[in-house]
Amino acid sequence: MATGKLTIDLDALVQNWRTLADHTTGEAAAVVKADGYGLGIARVARALARAGVRRFFVAVAEEGATLRQTLGPGPEINVMSGHMPGDTDMIGDLDLTPMINSYDQLLRHLESLPGAQFGIQLDTGMNRLGMEAAEWSALRDIAVAQNPTLIMSHLACSDEPDHPMNRQQLDQFHAMTEGLQLPRSLAATGGILLGEDYHFDITRPGIGLYGGRPFEAAAPVVRLDLPVIQTRDLEPGETVGYGNTWTATEPTRVATVSGGYADGIHRILTNRGQFHFGATPCPILGRVSMDLIGIDVTHLGTDPAELTLIGEHQPIDNVADTAQTIGYEILTSLGARYDRRYSGG
Ligand SMILES: *Cc1c(COP(=O)(O)O)cnc(C)c1O
Repeated sequence: MATGKLTIDLDALVQNWRTLADHTTGEAAAVVKADGYGLGIARVARALARAGVRRFFVAVAEEGATLRQTLGPGPEINVMSGHMPGDTDMIGDLDLTPMINSYDQLLRHLESLPGAQFGIQLDTGMNRLGMEAAEWSALRDIAVAQNPTLIMSHLACSDEPDHPMNRQQLDQFHAMTEGLQLPRSLAATGGILLGEDYHFDITRPGIGLYGGRPFEAAAPVVRLDLPVIQTRDLEPGETVGYGNTWTATEPTRVATVSGGYADGIHRILTNRGQFHFGATPCPILGRVSMDLIGIDVTHLGTDPAELTLIGEHQPIDNVADTAQTIGYEILTSLGARYDRRYSGG
């Protein structure tokens, strides 16, 4: 078998949720959008539900429909894009709870599914989703009379604890929800770590569950090992890969692993990223191709059967740093070709 092996530790996932939930003054929900941050929404959500998660957040209604089919009735499934044209049947039939973002969405929801659950999303300064202060004050009484399940907003800079935007959005959220006897939610992973002022009734951790920053204390959830297909010796002056971008200056042993940018291994790692053999780093030589990558194993003194891209010696955020991106993008880029193995849960 030449496919890479992606190992997902569901016990570590559950442990991360428990740690963040213990940190939360109210209820900790779980964000499982984008196929559970690329790790497989069914396995991830079932493990979390068994651990006690009663409220999930997804980005779009289609993800909510998949999740409802996986979990069955009971857990609340909140859809952050709200109620879009074409969503009505999914929301109604599968008992999804849209987070209403605008007057148009509120009207659509109340007219097409009278009496159906919904929440409200407010914009407190990120200018992405949710009602702004003026729209909200016009609609507030009508919306509140329909008993929304939740009022939420989202922080733009919560991964930077000292950023003044955090306090600004907190104040704005207080101002917009003052006097309402409804459950409130402001914090994702970063917001939980900002402290109790940000927790309100429900928190919405995502990346921290999957072992990413800014939850530095997270247990690692993902491991990625790629098999070596071939190993060869290069003389000084020989090159590796497309475009001859790497040239040997001394005798070099190169292992070719199975995996490439089609599997979500970013092409920017060309000549700069590294794999590991045990604890020993092994640099990438030449360009990352679609399905293959050359790796320097000269110094190992042995020909490895596989090499590790993501693991204890190089967690997702280190790969992300080298690829000039964030752990979220590394996770959600993980390809469909890997042999996915789940442990625990
Ligand atoms: C993605 C998202 C979350 C989860 O954020 P993390 O940083 O992954 O914890 C929470 N709320 C909203 C609105 C989101 O878009």
